Amino acid sequence: KVRVRFAPSPTGPLHIGGVRTALFNYLFAKKHDGDFLLRIEDTDQNRYVEGAEAYIIEALNWLTIPYDEGPGKEKDCGPYRQSERKALYKQYADALIESGNAYYAFDTSEELDAHRKDHEAKGKTFIYNWHNRLKLKNSLVFSSEETQQKIANDEEYVIRFKSPEDETLHLNDIIRGEMQVETNILDDKVLFKSDGMPTYHLANIVDDHLMKITHVIRGEEWLPSLALHVLLYRAFGWEAPQFAHLPLILKPTGNGKLSKRDGDKMGFPVFPLEWKTAEGELFSGYREDGYLPEAVVNMLAFLGWNPGTEQEIFSLEELIDAFGLERVNKAGAKFDPDKTKWFQHQYLQKVDDALLASEFERYLNRLSVERQGNTLSQPQGNALSQPPIETIKKIVSLLKERATFVSDLWEQGSFFFEAPATYDAKAAEKAFKAETAVLLKKVVSILSATEDFSAENLSEQVKGWITSENIGFGKVMMPLRLALVGEMKGPEVFDILSILGKEESVVRIEKAID
Ligand code: GLU
Repeated sequence: KVRVRFAPSPTGPLHIGGVRTALFNYLFAKKHDGDFLLRIEDTDQNRYVEGAEAYIIEALNWLTIPYDEGPGKEKDCGPYRQSERKALYKQYADALIESGNAYYAFDTSEELDAHRKDHEAKGKTFIYNWHNRLKLKNSLVFSSEETQQKIANDEEYVIRFKSPEDETLHLNDIIRGEMQVETNILDDKVLFKSDGMPTYHLANIVDDHLMKITHVIRGEEWLPSLALHVLLYRAFGWEAPQFAHLPLILKPTGNGKLSKRDGDKMGFPVFPLEWKTAEGELFSGYREDGYLPEAVVNMLAFLGWNPGTEQEIFSLEELIDAFGLERVNKAGAKFDPDKTKWFQHQYLQKVDDALLASEFERYLNRLSVERQGNTLSQPQGNALSQPPIETIKKIVSLLKERATFVSDLWEQGSFFFEAPATYDAKAAEKAFKAETAVLLKKVVSILSATEDFSAENLSEQVKGWITSENIGFGKVMMPLRLALVGEMKGPEVFDILSILGKEESVVRIEKAID
């Protein structure tokens, strides 16, 4: 059975790259009727950030890609936080020592720094492996009694992996194919630290094995660790899972890796949900910026994957159906904020009018509260006169096409809720002519006499009069729109009249010709 995991370290909020990894794991699991696990890799206590785990879980839920197994959803392979599995790892490190695949090392960090500097001075990089190992003060030059004695004396040690000499490894990656790595370039990585905690490498391999992970799908930044991981599986005598390293996500310019600062600089979110740092710095999130989770999922799916067809809009179900690791690219995927907005626009169009109306109503309520509470920064601010939900629904269906976010509905249609305070000067110059007052007075009398205030009937009445008098549409329609809206924007004038209703329409027109 396919089992994959998303294994973030709770060192901060998930960014787009992390969420994309989670999504691809989710899609792969669901495609193969497998399990999607969440494992919290919190062995590095120095980098632990309060609230990060809750954030990760909330983000996955918001995106509707929940995990099947993990913290709070314990199954056979728990616990799912590495800090709670602490007691488990030491025996595996010991087993590697026993089998000769790992060793105690007592080098202090000063000593290691000195070695590094020494090499640098000679224009070389210091690799801690068999080239240097014997020259260093580590356990290989100590007899096992000496080693035991040092440990008994409480000397600080780490356990390092003993990388093999002169071997060419053939590594396989589903996305990248076969790669060759010479073991001589590998460091003897630390597996177990002096603080009694395993490093990422050891804990990751042990847990993937114990949790029966079949496919490791993760970011390209882990590719350099693949050789060590494969060697660790070999040293344990375990079957390794298959690996797939997802391409980097690049800045919109294509120039380097997307960083969390890019969002702030260029005005788009890089986090699914907003995040406040301990220092009080606020990063915006897709959710708070008004994106729909479906749009974000669809956008993320195209960061490194494509269906091989022209289709761009995919529901989660359709993604599960179409997804495959063989269609994931090696090359970095450029993040495109405009495309992200385009997806959002497409998904907003799909939202049912009734649902969108209630979202918009919530938006209006918030705005109204803000204005009442903050009259200083909103001098003309008064509470919005809010029409019934049925009317909001009509407004929404008229404006939706021009909107990407719920907030755009307000940008496009604030005149439905408050009469224009001023008229756009340029447009007024064009629209308000000597004869305008007379013409608009006639419109008022037509409106006053009209019982059926539907857009169709209003159009019939007003247009009928215009044609019969041979007036010219612009002469009436331009000032009429300006009177109602304040600018030359918005949907059909008759739709606006119909929604505003007789009384409000007449008030606005009379004010304009006053
Ligand atoms: N804890 C690692 C991370 O934060 C997981 C890498 C992996 O999936 O193996 O990305």
